[in-house]
Amino acid sequence: MTADSRYKSRAPQTDDGEEKEYVGFATLPNQLHRKSVKKGFDFTLLVAGESGLGKSTLVNSLFLTDLHKDRKLLNAEERISQTVEITKHTVDIEEKGVKLKLTVVDTPGFGDAVNNTACWRPITDYIDQQFEQYFRDESGLNRKNIQDNRVHCCLYFIPPFGHGLHPVDIEFMKALQDKVNVVPLIAKADCLTPFEIKKLKERVREEIDKYGIKIYQFPHCDSDEDEEFKQQDKELKESTPFAVIGSNTVVEARGHRVRGRVYPWGIVEVENPSHCDFVKLRTMLIRTHMHDLKDITSDCHYENYRAQCIQNMTRCEPDKTYTWSQNMLRRMQQMLQKMQQQMHEQEL
Ligand code: GDP
Repeated sequence: MTADSRYKSRAPQTDDGEEKEYVGFATLPNQLHRKSVKKGFDFTLLVAGESGLGKSTLVNSLFLTDLHKDRKLLNAEERISQTVEITKHTVDIEEKGVKLKLTVVDTPGFGDAVNNTACWRPITDYIDQQFEQYFRDESGLNRKNIQDNRVHCCLYFIPPFGHGLHPVDIEFMKALQDKVNVVPLIAKADCLTPFEIKKLKERVREEIDKYGIKIYQFPHCDSDEDEEFKQQDKELKESTPFAVIGSNTVVEARGHRVRGRVYPWGIVEVENPSHCDFVKLRTMLIRTHMHDLKDITSDCHYENYRAQCIQNMTRCEPDKTYTWSQNMLRRMQQMLQKMQQQMHEQEL
């Protein structure tokens, strides 16, 4: 398609083939689409949860890439003394000409210590540091080429064992809820029967309500959306917390090559919706809600951080809090007084 035909082809025609009056702003979505594709997309995902819950396996299964090639696994002794670390892996992936720069922030050591008090602090500090960097870049001179490292989503892995949330899960989610979109997951769902998954999901949802934890809320579905989309949206909302299974091996099942886990009693298929919610999570994260996750990060979480920063900057006396406009007013009054004084001295 030539550049010219790209615009003309959209102009409505009359019955005798002539072009109706056509301004051309109907091409705006196409222009935006082309610009975004050219620029590429970026997305930063943080994964947290005890080690061994399948975080790396799931991320690799989600993006069909090996992000943790050079990971060094620690033994029990090393893990006792280890503090929470933050590691970052970035990959550039491309699908049908669309480029995505995916950054996965891992948190090895989280929840592994004997005493887990405030073990989420390095994670909240990391999220704040990214906001701070963005705030500084945004206030600087070169705002065109800002590298956005803000965390758009946190996948939090809840252990499948036990009877609901553990204290560390509650504390972690509460500490992060105003900084990032938290998406809770039930890890290694193949360890549970369908009935146990249902019960655990109900329990987790009840506890999320009870403790006032704010997890990522799917946006309301518009009434003019098609029925299929509405149904998909309903299923997504009902499935939280998603019960997931990860695997990096491809196996033979029902005559097909699938990602799965082979057990003596059968094969668990990662992408089979009757086995787990992996496909729902992938659809939500990549196909339907990635943009919303980025918008909420920018419009809510970052805006809160920014407002707080500006408030702190305008706070000038330890015992008094002034707003920015009050400060300006005070400064202008001082300047006026100075000018009046100078004029008075000249008159004399
Ligand atoms: P991480 O430490 O949380 O990143 O966990 P890994 O991804 O390294 O997985 C730890 C172990 O659990 C490995 O042996 C994986 O093969 C296994 N694993 C990963 N995902 C699953 C799962 O969904 N179900 C089961 N049963 N095992 C899993």
